[in-house]
Amino acid sequence: MRMPTFNILEPGSKKKALLTLDKYRNKLKVVAGGTEVVVMMKLGLSAPSYLMSLNKIKGLKGIEKRKNEVIIKSSTTIKEILQSPLMNEKFKGITQAAQLLAAPPIQNRATIGGNILQNTRCLYYNQSELFRNGLKPCFKAGGNICHAARGGKRCFSVYQGDMAPSLISLGSKVKLEKNNSSRTILLSDFFTGKGENPFLIEDNELLTEFIIPLPDAKYGSSYEKLRIRKGLEYPLVSTAVFLSEDKDGNLDNARIVIGAAASAPKIIENASSCLKSRNPSAEDMDEVANLADNLSEMINNLSVPATYRRKMVKVVTKRSLKNAFQDLKRGY
Ligand SMILES: Cc1cc2nc3c(=O)[nH]c(=O)nc-3n(C[C@H](O)[C@H](O)[C@H](O)COP(=O)(O)OP(=O)(O)OC[C@H]3O[C@@H](n4cnc5c(N)ncnc54)[C@H](O)[C@@H]3O)c2cc1C
Ligand code: SF4
Repeated sequence: MRMPTFNILEPGSKKKALLTLDKYRNKLKVVAGGTEVVVMMKLGLSAPSYLMSLNKIKGLKGIEKRKNEVIIKSSTTIKEILQSPLMNEKFKGITQAAQLLAAPPIQNRATIGGNILQNTRCLYYNQSELFRNGLKPCFKAGGNICHAARGGKRCFSVYQGDMAPSLISLGSKVKLEKNNSSRTILLSDFFTGKGENPFLIEDNELLTEFIIPLPDAKYGSSYEKLRIRKGLEYPLVSTAVFLSEDKDGNLDNARIVIGAAASAPKIIENASSCLKSRNPSAEDMDEVANLADNLSEMINNLSVPATYRRKMVKVVTKRSLKNAFQDLKRGY
């Protein structure tokens, strides 16, 4: 598989990058670690005239603690997150997701910004041009059919990023900048839920940072993932859990996010009301697992059957919950 031809642009500052984005707009693709961009170009799923590398922009790298929050700049690599004492101490769910993401050769290059912005995936779409040419174009390829769900009226391609569920469970925000303006929104609001077009980002916007609030009470977090092999595997189902206590030691917040079960990560809205104590009963856990199951929108478009993935949503959710309770008991 050959790379199509392209021109490379390497701005040395964020300001120059934003001006470049504005100038070339939809002819340009941003490249951070390149671990997704290069594969998409080789498969013929993307053929931009320009690639703009973020590699030389120092202002987009690093992890910083401020008064009530931690900032992760978008070009920070997964390896840097794994090696950060601050991240390991404060956000176990995030470092667990980083640990389970692909394998060290990818973790060394892959960035957190690129990870969040990875496209949705499907067995029928993420294939070579030769394979795809044997099928009519589906919704995601600009056509009007779905090969995975006959009669389906939309694309069910799956968001398989590992970092988003954990970041969302912690209430993270994302900063998006363009020439002369910026906006900060909840990461959960950044996803459209649509397989064909999964993010609310404009073609002249750059994702520049993640803002993770530091909880002021005791809390715990966890991330669990189903995969076939122990390395180089996207999640087939995943669950991120954040739990916090009030000053009297009662559980007051449970934010649980299901990944790889739809075109966007999904928050279980009523989880807090099912888990009323530090030591939830098996029935409480089952109730949460059923809510997770109800939220998933799976069809047969990944490497294992949707029926198996549905069963595993419950299993993975309960495992992640148990681990987050352990982390909560450890306390901060
Ligand atoms: C073999 C293999 C296994 C993998 N396994 C996993 C896995 O287990 N879990 C997982 O989550 N992912 C996996 N991936 C996918 C991918 O490598 C990761 O998601 C990675 O984190 C992407 O980061 P990157 O910096 O390399 O992104 P890039 O490839 O550079 O970019 C990805 C996308 O983000 C855009 N982008 C990047 N940075 C910015 C920015 N700052 N502003 C605006 N747009 C931006 C790019 O234009 C592109 O659309 C795997 C990939 C491979 C090849
Ligand atoms: S889910 Fe259907 S429409 Fe979406 S990429 Fe797969 S085959 Fe295409």
